[in-house]
Amino acid sequence: MLRRSTSQLKTEDQLRTMRASGLIVSRILDELARRCKPGTTPRELDALAQELLARAGATSSFLGYGGQSGLPPFPAVTCISVNDQVVHGIPDDRPFVAGDLVSIDFGAEYQGWHGDSARTVAVGEVGAAAAALSTDTRRALWDGIAAVRAGRRIGDVSAAIESALRIRRKGYGIVREFTGHGIGTQMHMEPDVPNYGRAGKGPRIVQGMCLAIEPIITLGSPATSTLDDEWTVVTRDHSLAAHWEHTVAVTPRGLWVLTAEDGGEAELTARGVSFGPLG
Ligand code: MG
Ligand code: MG
Repeated sequence: MLRRSTSQLKTEDQLRTMRASGLIVSRILDELARRCKPGTTPRELDALAQELLARAGATSSFLGYGGQSGLPPFPAVTCISVNDQVVHGIPDDRPFVAGDLVSIDFGAEYQGWHGDSARTVAVGEVGAAAAALSTDTRRALWDGIAAVRAGRRIGDVSAAIESALRIRRKGYGIVREFTGHGIGTQMHMEPDVPNYGRAGKGPRIVQGMCLAIEPIITLGSPATSTLDDEWTVVTRDHSLAAHWEHTVAVTPRGLWVLTAEDGGEAELTARGVSFGPLG
């Protein structure tokens, strides 16, 4: 019996279904990222995502989320957060302009299993600091993923993300209110995966575990506030933010990045980590 405090462990067949869900997420995100051009609106991207989800036989992990917890139900299938918006941006009708830094967060449920992934996309040319913020956040994500190993602890992942950001040297803000999470038959499950912390601490990582790892980083202070819509999170100092996320499975053979088209093979191999897809 699954207890709330316990991570949900998946069988190999369940991991294969989660891979199918992850690929749906990845391929739809590819389409959305490709359309992040000046003049496109977030609402247009959301409508496209909704159509592609239906075509894939999947449903949204986000639409209606939060209703039970007293929050207004989330009204879209994507979170699109522009510039100083950090996470949970509600897609609206303001067209993108060149220089915008856009984070798209997207989740799908397929045959009862969830996939969750996010990317930061530059609209046209962005400034050097904005480009570096996104590149470094993506690198921190993959360094965090590469620290996942059966027998290690969640703190090892958190510490890898934090040190990858070389926070002291570059002065990035690591947003603390939002963390990665376990994922499976629900989008948000145990355990939390903070983007800062100490190696050797936290819950043990075991085979069959699936984690959504998601550094959320700012160019300034990590302090955030929430807009009147009760969802959109912005930086208090209006500095830019970036958000990269993948859903990762710990298989008997190693790691399988369920929301990456190649399963994570390129980035894991480059880091000397066992790439462990299931056939
Ligand atoms: Mg997400
Ligand atoms: Mg997530």
